[in-house]
Amino acid sequence: MHAIGVDIGGTKIAVGVVDEDGAIIAKTKRKTQPQDPASIDAAIADAVAELAAEHEFHSVGLAAAGFVSSDQEHVLFAPNIAWRDYPLADNVRRLLGRDDVAVVVENDANAAGWAEFAFGAARDVAHMALLTIGTGLGAALVVDGKLVRGAYGFAAELGHLRVVPGGHPCGCGLRGCWEQYASGSALTREARRAALERPVRAARLLELAGGNAIDIHGPQVTEAAMEGDELGIELLAELGRWIGEGSASLAAALDPELFVIGGGVVAAGDLLLHPARAAFEDNLPARGHRPIVPIVPAQMGNDAGIVGAADLARLAAANR
Ligand SMILES: [Zn+2]
Repeated sequence: MHAIGVDIGGTKIAVGVVDEDGAIIAKTKRKTQPQDPASIDAAIADAVAELAAEHEFHSVGLAAAGFVSSDQEHVLFAPNIAWRDYPLADNVRRLLGRDDVAVVVENDANAAGWAEFAFGAARDVAHMALLTIGTGLGAALVVDGKLVRGAYGFAAELGHLRVVPGGHPCGCGLRGCWEQYASGSALTREARRAALERPVRAARLLELAGGNAIDIHGPQVTEAAMEGDELGIELLAELGRWIGEGSASLAAALDPELFVIGGGVVAAGDLLLHPARAAFEDNLPARGHRPIVPIVPAQMGNDAGIVGAADLARLAAANR
């Protein structure tokens, strides 16, 4: 049976009909206002109704960038959308007006991680961690074939593990969180800093950004590095090291079979992943006496949220 997955972003939602093999067979989207949660509810219901005209389904999964309650009904808090203890599942259920359709909410990183586990880079393992290197560091954990949600729904917020006491301030209110070092924002911050402090060395980066340090973004660092630019290569290697060192500490807690790295910066390939693997090996507890866990790129791309949310909703409906 097909299921619907909804990926709710800050300014738009993407909705897909997903089959049991994780393939998207139909897709639509809507623009939304992040400050108006009711408009998001309405846009979801409208998009799902559009797909319902031609497709049969009995479950809808909503992937939300926020803290989701353990019963998968509410978004308790979201940094970029005005959700505060918000009954998202119930609102969408009411607007759909179909009592044969189950609606569940899932954290967006969890949905993406589940897609990689069920259909993507981690489909052959039972224990995995997904790290999505975007604006922040999103994560999902699968242990013994099960998604880890924690007692209250807050598990796998790995971006807020503290890696540098007294380090860079973080949006969560603390300092020195992992995502302040292992994220696209960190890459951009360091690239801009390098361009301001050593403009000659950053000549190629500045050129790609049109001359201003403030206009340097991750893709330009990747582009420069792929051309062989020394600074670009160094900036990606530094990001990779932070990813690898943190993953080594995670291995102490989780002992996974595989780390999957997602997010736009994975386009840099081994320029990022080789330093990550080296730092992982160097910092692995009991190194030399345990397997070196592979660190591989994600495979599901931008559709991971839709596919994972749909599959988790289908499983939740089957278990009810
Ligand atoms: Zn934090």
